[in-house]
Amino acid sequence: MEVWIVFWVLCGIVSAVVASSRGASGFLGFVLGVLLGPLGIVIAFVLKPSATLPTTPTSSDGTFIKCAHCQGFTPSESRCCMNCGTALA
Ligand SMILES: [Zn+2]
Repeated sequence: MEVWIVFWVLCGIVSAVVASSRGASGFLGFVLGVLLGPLGIVIAFVLKPSATLPTTPTSSDGTFIKCAHCQGFTPSESRCCMNCGTALA
């Protein structure tokens, strides 16, 4: 029966990866996958990003620029990334 435990945990991991790739909580995806198995993966696919998460500032409005080194957002007037310190062009 050990194979089923491995299978269920694998479902949890796959759900976590799917959920996090869709902007939702990876932990939530893991719980869904472990509890529901393959059905959890399906639910993870249709999960929407959590509304409670703060919206990520976009570079399109010109207020923030994205660091090429760490992918973090830094105010456009900064000379270096406030996340990793890399000099910005
Ligand atoms: Zn950076």
